[in-house]
Amino acid sequence: MGRFDGRVAVITGAARGIGFGTATRFAEEGASVAIVDLDESAAAEAAAKLPLTEGAKAIGVGANVSDSASVEAGIERVVAELGGIHILVNNAGITRDNLLFKMTEDDWDLVMGVHLKGAFLMTKAAQKHFVEQKYGKIVNISSISALGNRGQANYSAAKMGIQGLTRTLGIELGPFGINTNAVAPGFIATEMTDATAARLKLDVDEFRRLNAEANPVKRVGFPADIAAAVCFLASDEASYITGQTLYVDGGITLGT
Ligand code: NAP
Repeated sequence: MGRFDGRVAVITGAARGIGFGTATRFAEEGASVAIVDLDESAAAEAAAKLPLTEGAKAIGVGANVSDSASVEAGIERVVAELGGIHILVNNAGITRDNLLFKMTEDDWDLVMGVHLKGAFLMTKAAQKHFVEQKYGKIVNISSISALGNRGQANYSAAKMGIQGLTRTLGIELGPFGINTNAVAPGFIATEMTDATAARLKLDVDEFRRLNAEANPVKRVGFPADIAAAVCFLASDEASYITGQTLYVDGGITLGT
């Protein structure tokens, strides 16, 4: 018996990184999984690699989370091909880091569009199904950068916006059997943080070592660390928890 037997989980931005790690954990625990990502073939390739349990299915769906038509078509495809939707993880993300005076309007709009508008559109499309069946689990991926991070005015605003969205949906959707929570990761070793290392002209291993040193548990995080927290919040064990943001960050936000 897996915690997600008979459930359908949709994870955005799951062709790689934290999203793929999370999709893997849902699959291991019995869910059918839809991997939503910009590139349909990358999503399908990732779906084909999932460790599904007997009777479960996986599909890759090409969709842009910041485009409402694409989102609605994506959710309808999931419902048609996997037979429903029970869990939504809003994970898709990008960075366009720069100090405010160098940040362009496009950098702002793109980041807000993927993280914040993307979570809004995906949740709006999924909630119709959740409300009808009086069951749904939403987990949004925020970040420790929500608390403020130099060079990330756009990303930080979007990630704190996600926490406000999470609290509000906790209030609005709770009466319909829907739990909405967020996970705020610290440094997680993925292509996103490798790209940051490249931008800072640092070697990837050195960048990871510096980030490991900076937190109390003295290691970097991995997608599996975030997957464990997301799956707990998406499980029925967490049905009395809603509107919360769980920091999974090796303690870096505790201060010294
Ligand atoms: P990642 O490796 O860069 O993966 C992000 C995925 O999202 C990529 O597959 C990307 O596709 C996809 N994506 C981008 N824009 C999209 C869109 N409009 N519609 C659908 N999919 C889209 O990133 P990650 O490190 O796994 O991060 C996952 C989430 O965790 C993000 O929300 C990120 O902000 C958050 N987070 C990460 C860290 C960290 O340390 N890694 C820390 C805190 C929070 P393409 O490759 O085609 O662009």
